[in-house]
Order: sequence, then C-alpha cells, then structure tokens
Amino acid sequence: MTSKPMDKNAQKVVPLKERKCLMCKKLATFEMRPFCSKRCADLDLGRWLDGGYRLPTNEAPGDAEAGMEDDEYNQ
Ligand SMILES: [Zn+2]
Repeated sequence: MTSKPMDKNAQKVVPLKERKCLMCKKLATFEMRPFCSKRCADLDLGRWLDGGYRLPTNEAPGDAEAGMEDDEYNQ
C-alpha cells in the first residue's frame, strides 16, 4: 500500500505580479494600471505637463533677461 499526500502541495499557487501604483504605491488596478485609480493617473499626468518636461537646472533663475531694458531706458 502506498499513501500519496497530494494535498500537501496542492495550495502552491503562484500569485500574479502585483503592480503597484507609481504615485501612491498602492496596489494598481487592471483598468488604471500602472496606477491604482484615475486620480493617481491624473496626478502623474499633471506632473508631466506641469514641470516634468523641463528639467531643473542649477543656473541662476531670472538673471539672463535682467539687462535687456537698458537700451530703451537710456534716453
Ligand atoms: Zn495610487
């Protein structure tokens, strides 16, 4: 007689890769992936449109156009 312990490894279920929201790190939904909700998707889009396109630089802000008005003001 042989006994087969089949039930021991029966529950070895490999879970699918969980996708986490890029914004808040919650579990992403299938519809809104890679985000958890439309809100987070909009937030990410807003970030791209707002400041994501320009990379921040270390240059001094605003000084480039400082001396432009000198000619007209010199009368
Ligand atoms: Zn989210």
